[in-house]
Amino acid sequence: MMIIYESKLEGTKHQYEQLDQAIRTARFVRNSIIRAWMDGQVKSRNDAYTYCKVLSDHPLFPWANQLNSQARQAHAERAWAAIERFYRNCKAKVPGKKGFPKFKKYQVRDSVEYKVSGWKLSEDRHYLTFTDGFTAGTFKLWGSRNLHYCQLKQIKRVRVVRRHDGYYAQFLIDHTREESKELTGKQIGLDVGLNHFYTDSFGEKIEHPRFLRKDERKIKRLQRRLSKTQKGSNNRAKARNKLGRAHLKVSRRRNDWVCKLAQRVIQSNDLVAIENLKVRNMLKNHCLAKSISDAAWYRFREWLEYFGIIYGVPVIAVNPSYTSQNCSNCGHKVVKTLSTRTHRCLNCGYIADRDENAAINILKSGLRELSTTVGRTECQVSREISLCSDVETQPSKATQRKRKAKK
Ligand SMILES: [Zn+2]
Repeated sequence: MMIIYESKLEGTKHQYEQLDQAIRTARFVRNSIIRAWMDGQVKSRNDAYTYCKVLSDHPLFPWANQLNSQARQAHAERAWAAIERFYRNCKAKVPGKKGFPKFKKYQVRDSVEYKVSGWKLSEDRHYLTFTDGFTAGTFKLWGSRNLHYCQLKQIKRVRVVRRHDGYYAQFLIDHTREESKELTGKQIGLDVGLNHFYTDSFGEKIEHPRFLRKDERKIKRLQRRLSKTQKGSNNRAKARNKLGRAHLKVSRRRNDWVCKLAQRVIQSNDLVAIENLKVRNMLKNHCLAKSISDAAWYRFREWLEYFGIIYGVPVIAVNPSYTSQNCSNCGHKVVKTLSTRTHRCLNCGYIADRDENAAINILKSGLRELSTTVGRTECQVSREISLCSDVETQPSKATQRKRKAKK
């Protein structure tokens, strides 16, 4: 499992300018490869690598050679990935836009990626030094505590990210963490909603944290202020920076909260079932309150999956259709509108809170999904033998094939 740790880079203005140069060069490499692909010079991933060399040897682009060679390759890989995605969409005849690779323009939020060279981490993990041609030098790392627990060889990539409030180093770490957990004998289904953050299959509800509403109001205010400024003015740049910082603060606070919540859920259950919501549709939403709660839910799910792996708790995502309509007691369909808060089954008389009923359905479909996917091949083989043992003595073709494969 790959995980990312992040620390803020503390350096001088001159050092930050050098990082800007590296980020700009990374963008240059990416855009040049897209251009060369359009001109027919680059036709494969290998061509893209070769073209990196062309760029770094070119007398007109002295900066290309200043960027670490593996970093150049990393950005060539990214460019090629964009081209490949386009080809794939065309081949699959995806309706609408196929994602024709675009040139990347300047924006504050941008990054440069190093692989295993071009940087050096100090022995005590408090300083990061860049060693390529941009000579950005040594930065102090803020919040590098997590790095103490990993070995250097576990760090596969270092990405420098520029944001509205500064420069960050992200360490991509190949992680194998395992924690032991006692069995709790409990399984849980979670139903998300706008009214509550989630309702679980035991009927417990977790409210949206109060700060989400407060943050939402703050962002709205800053957005209004930004829209009142003149285009291209100094005030506009300032207002945009403020809004950018506010968004970052909100997302960090939200992340802390959902991380703790997810760990608690995983530690106190042996199995977790959730709805498989389409993230792409979720993040497209224009209603601010909805988009903030969706983003929180998205992060929550990522943490659930992360802790699930660490503690050995399966997290199963199920198809969300009908979970709120069907009766969790007898399976009968009980049509409800959005405003119906209570589930009343006419078939079996079961009455429950609407969301609790949904959460139980989610848990049940999760278990069903698990029973049909886990150990399926083993099951089929043994079922065949046990059912037919008194009639058939010859193993079936399927088992014969399996035995051959084992030899
Ligand atoms: Zn029922």
